[in-house]
Amino acid sequence: MLAWSSLAADEAEREVTRDPRGAVERAQIKVQQAAQRGNRTDELAGLLMMARGYGLLEEHRLLGDTLARALALAESLNDKATLGRLWVIKAGMLNAAAQYKEAAALYERAIVLAQQRQDNELLADAYSGKGYLLEGQRRSNEALAMFFAAHALYVKLGNEPDIGSILAAIADTYSNLQDRQRALEYYQRARTKLSTVGDALSLSVLDFNMGVTYHELNQLDQAERHYRSALAGSQQLRDNVGIAYARYRLGRVAAERGQLDYALSELKAAQQEFERSGSLPMRFVVQLLRAKVLAQQGQPIALAVLDDTRTLLGQLDTPDRWQEFHLTAAEVYAHFNRFEDAYRQMQRLREVDQAEIERSDRKLTEEMKLKFDTQLKEAENALLRSQQQLQQAELNESNARRFALGAALLATLVILGVVGFLLWRQVVLKRRFADLALHDELTGAPNRRHILAYAKRQLTLSRELGTPFSVAVLDLDYFKRINDSYGHDTGDRVLLAFAHACQGQLRSGDRLGRFGGEEWLLVMPGTDTGPCRNVFERLRGAFQAEVIEGLPADYTVSFSMGVAERTERDQSLDTLLKRADEALYRAKSQGRDRIEVEG
Ligand code: GH3
Ligand code: MG
Ligand code: MG
Repeated sequence: MLAWSSLAADEAEREVTRDPRGAVERAQIKVQQAAQRGNRTDELAGLLMMARGYGLLEEHRLLGDTLARALALAESLNDKATLGRLWVIKAGMLNAAAQYKEAAALYERAIVLAQQRQDNELLADAYSGKGYLLEGQRRSNEALAMFFAAHALYVKLGNEPDIGSILAAIADTYSNLQDRQRALEYYQRARTKLSTVGDALSLSVLDFNMGVTYHELNQLDQAERHYRSALAGSQQLRDNVGIAYARYRLGRVAAERGQLDYALSELKAAQQEFERSGSLPMRFVVQLLRAKVLAQQGQPIALAVLDDTRTLLGQLDTPDRWQEFHLTAAEVYAHFNRFEDAYRQMQRLREVDQAEIERSDRKLTEEMKLKFDTQLKEAENALLRSQQQLQQAELNESNARRFALGAALLATLVILGVVGFLLWRQVVLKRRFADLALHDELTGAPNRRHILAYAKRQLTLSRELGTPFSVAVLDLDYFKRINDSYGHDTGDRVLLAFAHACQGQLRSGDRLGRFGGEEWLLVMPGTDTGPCRNVFERLRGAFQAEVIEGLPADYTVSFSMGVAERTERDQSLDTLLKRADEALYRAKSQGRDRIEVEG
């Protein structure tokens, strides 16, 4: 009988991913036979296969038992190669059980072992496992590095199914980083690979995620196509939860297209499944959307469904869920002409919004401060030690000692260089963090991402409530000249002064964000273009009153402003912004330092 030689192992592994249940059953028989014959090597190989199968099936208790038995056997046979593979599987299990530290430690051990033994297959599996762990903790950039390292090794090994999965993991990570174009590129590559190896489950998950990415890009046809494929795949696999996810997403697409009846039937099916499987977050999400669609149809039951989501929120209390709730609740109430309730929900939304900004800023600052403080302490300690040693050397005037200590000082300087490098890396990291934060680093104003999100939400609300809504794009005049004549630092101070001047002049609800460079976006919910000239004059006055270091006292910096108000024609924020931009262009071409209203 053929032993589980390493040649057969490759094929066996493929079999596990294709049909985990069958593979586990076959491996069980092999384990039994091997144990009877006393062939412990085959027994271990069979156990490893069972563990892989249980891992894929997410049967954690059976996996735990199998792992315990396999680990003991691998130890007693001193089979390092298998031991490393078992660690990786166990780490995956620990990760699923939220024991992240333990999981990370096991991956580390597996990586060290794989490097010692030059076992590229194990190394690749450990890298990719660690990547998933990091990605789960939203450390996406570190995860990407792991995935790329694993990818290179899988390519070297010619391991097609794993190349496919790792490409999908890279795509998911880019998607989490909001880099959707790159995500789609990798999804496409993963799809090509996975279709040839025919791993139905991965393929259906992949289709679903691709659908979500197209959906986020507002490409509804493409999104629907992929959701449909994911649905067909899940149906084939009899994966009820997968079916429910796909149905929910198809319901969303239908709702966005205004196909309300169809949307409701898909959402209802999804809702029933999520109720059965007990997924609270998904129940909340689906019910919320149902409430909205029912309200659009004018069905009073929408209010009951809305109340149901409010109960779920009691158990799912997070700020972003509250934001979604208030936004939808405002829309639902407005549909039934309950404007006071709707307005109250809008107020709540703003409160949660504000609290969220403050919380996230505080958290970011604390995290960064902690990191800097520890590393600065280490650097200072190193410096102190080397200075002490040098003083000692000068006291004991022996030349030999001096020489030795000179060398020690040199070593310390090298360490300091490394610490310096680490600090520099922190700065780079901080910048990356800043991308995730809500505020612009230089001026403290809301950043582009944040001001756009605010504008989008307020536009939706004003559309639902039928209130006016205006945006303005502001751009400093001849800003390049300031940079060129007085330096970039002075330019930065001008930007700071502008943000500062505007801060005191805005009404509550109005929000100014840095759109990019020296361009700003002012969002004015509840305002038509009428008062905008006043707003312009107020901002102009405040800005001119600012004293800016580095500029001659008689130098005045001006800005131009283009305003546009929402009309029924504005399908999206983009079209509204484009009109404001056109107005700005006119203000510039008509001499600057002025406001132009689109219309
Ligand atoms: P215009 O009146 O037509 O707007 O002329 P302008 O010189 O302001 O032209 P433009 O808007 O094209 O110039 C933008 C300049 O802003 C170019 C860029 O070097 C500078 N800039 C962008 N971001 C920053 C920044 O953060 N700090 C500084 N100091 N300068 C910036
Ligand atoms: Mg400019
Ligand atoms: Mg500009």
